[in-house]
Amino acid sequence: RAVPVEQIVTESVDRARTPAESRKIRLSVAGDLSGYVYGDHNLLVTALRNLLDNAVSYSADGSAVSVGVRRVDDFVELSVVDQGIGISSDQQERIFERFYRVDPARSRETGGTGLGLSIVKHVVADHGGEISIWSEPGQGSTFTIKIPAARAPEELDAAPVAPSAADTEEERSA
Ligand code: ATP
Ligand code: MG
Repeated sequence: RAVPVEQIVTESVDRARTPAESRKIRLSVAGDLSGYVYGDHNLLVTALRNLLDNAVSYSADGSAVSVGVRRVDDFVELSVVDQGIGISSDQQERIFERFYRVDPARSRETGGTGLGLSIVKHVVADHGGEISIWSEPGQGSTFTIKIPAARAPEELDAAPVAPSAADTEEERSA
């Protein structure tokens, strides 16, 4: 079903606000929120939420995390950009595996299980999308998910269909 991108982004960012604020991390959103994607609202919020949680967890206090949204061909691209500790290229291949954590000793403080990114990967795959990562140790990370775009429900409603009995009834009494 067609899910408004704005709803996904707003709900995910709202839920990440408390952990971010406790670390004085600024959250921002930029780009074109007007589109729709084809999929499940709750699963997509879970995916974006996991990326935001990671961005906050693996960044220093006082840094910034941003979400960028843009339409590219038949996809909507959602990027989560942080200026955190980053991930080396050899680790980048492994972080999507279940239970894999780059540095268990250090990440123990953040209290995770290492499942977040494997969930993100599955949600994205189930939506016919793609996930990609750019990262540089010490500079930060950008996780980008691409989800197939959907047409606005209004557009679909506007398609010519035979009026139902209820519609005709309403028109008559109007
Ligand atoms: P969970 O998400 O289950 O609470 P987790 O965050 O450790 O635990 P994942 O989200 O799957 O698990 O991430 C796997 C590992 O990838 C993390 O432990 C961390 O080492 C690394 N990682 C993920 N996102 C980032 C990021 N934005 N910056 C730096 N390292 C990251
Ligand atoms: Mg995580």
